[in-house]
Amino acid sequence: MLNIVLFGAPGAGKGTQAAYIKVRYELVHLSTGDILRAARKSQSELGKRVAAIMDSGSLVSDEIVNELVAEQLKSNPGAKGFIFDGYPRTVAQAETLDRMLSENGKSVTVTLMLNVPNEELSRRMIKRAQEKGRTDDTPEVIASRLLVYERETMPVAAFYRSQEKLADINGLGSEGSVLDRLIEAIDGASKR
Ligand code: AMP
Repeated sequence: MLNIVLFGAPGAGKGTQAAYIKVRYELVHLSTGDILRAARKSQSELGKRVAAIMDSGSLVSDEIVNELVAEQLKSNPGAKGFIFDGYPRTVAQAETLDRMLSENGKSVTVTLMLNVPNEELSRRMIKRAQEKGRTDDTPEVIASRLLVYERETMPVAAFYRSQEKLADINGLGSEGSVLDRLIEAIDGASKR
């Protein structure tokens, strides 16, 4: 089983690259951000509970996202593997993911860290706001999301580095050239 964590700041290109990797390796794409946005759109109880938190740029509670991921793992028993996009975002989530996978004798294969400088991240998110109209892509919320990333999510990189599962990837350049770097890292890690 190939379990890939795609890691990086908001705007680093996780969603775009996850879509390519999903097709190439026949994985289930698991984006907690997409699941939460769908919940908001359908105006479910969950959607109503998380709307304000998402609009502020803060993180939804570990309990809620871990539960969403547990449901996805359960509902895809025959999957060849998963590409986790935007999850885990805290060390507590990373520990929970390890536990959920190990209950089925599985583990994270590799964590790919997409590195993009902050100025470029802001530029990409402002562009995305114009194209997709995401409610959390305003300049104030973008700044707050980058701070939340540094404070709460960066420690997850150290967590995987200590397990020798972190691959640093240059996230600048064309989509195709970034994808080539990701594929090289995935193929290298899955041979080990
Ligand atoms: P994303 O599309 O991954 O940037 O997620 C959009 C928003 O959804 C984030 O700013 C958070 O409010 C929330 N969110 C998505 N994934 C997570 C997660 N793993 N943990 C906590 N909050 C999350």
